[in-house]
Amino acid sequence: MRTKIVAGNWKMNMDYFEGLNLFNDMIALINQEVTGKQHAVICSPFIHLHALTKELTNEKVSIGAQNAHQAEAGAYTGEVSAKMIASVGATHVILGHSERRQYFAEDGKLLTQKIDAALAHDLTPIYCIGETLKEREAHHHFDVIKKQLTESVFHLSATDFGRIILAYEPVWAIGTGVTASADQAQEIHAFIRKEIAHKYSQAVADGITILYGGSCNTKNAAELFAKEDIDGGLIGGASLKARDFVDILKVFN
Ligand code: PEP
Repeated sequence: MRTKIVAGNWKMNMDYFEGLNLFNDMIALINQEVTGKQHAVICSPFIHLHALTKELTNEKVSIGAQNAHQAEAGAYTGEVSAKMIASVGATHVILGHSERRQYFAEDGKLLTQKIDAALAHDLTPIYCIGETLKEREAHHHFDVIKKQLTESVFHLSATDFGRIILAYEPVWAIGTGVTASADQAQEIHAFIRKEIAHKYSQAVADGITILYGGSCNTKNAAELFAKEDIDGGLIGGASLKARDFVDILKVFN
């Protein structure tokens, strides 16, 4: 069901103790200041997941991973499966982040398998899609978005599709300080919803949560989240500061 969500992606930041401190600071602020129906998802490195789920006392917060291997188990040295992530109480997993696509050669076929593995273990995938600057400048952004949807999530049944969260993250806006304007983001979010309605139904399109990500911060979140088709944000840099992350979450108070 469509929900107002702010998800934090810590990426490869925070050692174990720094992560626990950050999390506890966030929870304290959320307990005191977050009053609406919004929900936070903290996507930490694997090393924190178990501790964070144990510490968790606030039902407005869920814990997620940033990647999962597609197999259940096996000889894949260094990898962590969706089953393992679910076993420590995490409920979400970011899949298809542009950094995974770029640095770890994750393609549509692999991401299809990862989405299926996550759903098989009742994890909610936060599936990231978005065009590069080159693709936008060549006016290919709509085609890229459509392809990323078609190749990795449009094989799902309508019921399973309703279990995922989408995140539109223009690659040129991630970690760059350059944000898509609220109108640019809304244009793509509306396009995504239109494609979903075409593939499934208007009800499925209306029910899906679509986050915006890419240099979203305390200054621009309110304008972005005010747009009709933007249901919240996937936050990188600003999720490493408890005050900033909770202020972004409070846009929905
Ligand atoms: C991200 O990594 O998903 C992201 C949106 O990063 P940033 O907010 O730092 O641009």
